[in-house]
Amino acid sequence: MRRYHLNLNLTGVIVLVAIGVLLPVMLSTAVGIVALVIARDAGGIVTGVLVISFAVAAAGSALIAVVLTGRKARLARRQADFVANVSHEFRTPLSAIRLYTQTLQSGELAGDPEKTARCLATILRETEWLDAMVDRVLMWRASSRDMMPLEMQARPVSQAVNHAIERFRNMVDPAEVDLSASIDSRLPVRHDAAALTAVVLNLLSNAYKYTGKDKRISVIAHDEDRQAVVEVRDNGIGLTPAETKRVFQPFYRAERRDGGSPSGVGLGLAIARYLVNRHGGTITVDSRKGHGSTFTMRLPSGDAQS
Ligand code: ADP
Repeated sequence: MRRYHLNLNLTGVIVLVAIGVLLPVMLSTAVGIVALVIARDAGGIVTGVLVISFAVAAAGSALIAVVLTGRKARLARRQADFVANVSHEFRTPLSAIRLYTQTLQSGELAGDPEKTARCLATILRETEWLDAMVDRVLMWRASSRDMMPLEMQARPVSQAVNHAIERFRNMVDPAEVDLSASIDSRLPVRHDAAALTAVVLNLLSNAYKYTGKDKRISVIAHDEDRQAVVEVRDNGIGLTPAETKRVFQPFYRAERRDGGSPSGVGLGLAIARYLVNRHGGTITVDSRKGHGSTFTMRLPSGDAQS
């Protein structure tokens, strides 16, 4: 037996509400007003007031229905986009892993240890990207419910920042990126090391993703006014002032210059802001389109927080 689905979008609901609810509501209101105008006794006034109250209640219910339907439609669209974008993001490293594994399996490189080593290194790097992406999706789940447990300990941030740099080095081909680091922050900062590493790793991954062929990335950590300051700079595509205002919003992805559909999922910076805020700190961006970006995180020292 064939099933027919009533597939209404928001416009359809609005048209239905206009015809099915607004017209009767307007008529009822007109009738109520006429009843009030021509009322000669208390009974007539009560009738008029009742008819108008009924019309107002019906209009209110219809408005709530439209708002709820719109919200549900937006949520469904956002979830569908999210699944599509995450799948797309996962597919790139998966395809590379499959290709390089097949090459190794074919025995083509059997007599060439150098190429075999390069192949294995690429597979490992792509696995690191996948690992970081899975972490991000799980963190989004926990952060969107405000359920992320943090193990706070007062210590300098240097170790967490260096750990992020180490993980990032495992994700990229050293010949492809000019990465420099100057890590000199000694103030004790109450922080969760894994969370801080995730934030810096996300900034580094973005610096890599949104930079052209000549990739120059630097990480600087120092102390300033009882705060630990961590900066990640790149010489990448940069952002317009309007884009910098929105990059920390969940699911936001800036338009590409070539008009293609934007890459990424748009969650990394939203998670970063959530985590930095939970540490009592701030994260900001300073960027110029075509000239690169600097993301700066400031965390109050343990003494400043108490
Ligand atoms: P994702 O990179 O998965 O899309 P993010 O939340 O990390 O998610 O970033 C949101 C958007 O901000 C990106 O889609 C990109 O358009 C922009 N962006 C982030 N970092 C940079 C950067 N270093 N340079 C230029 N644009 C960036």
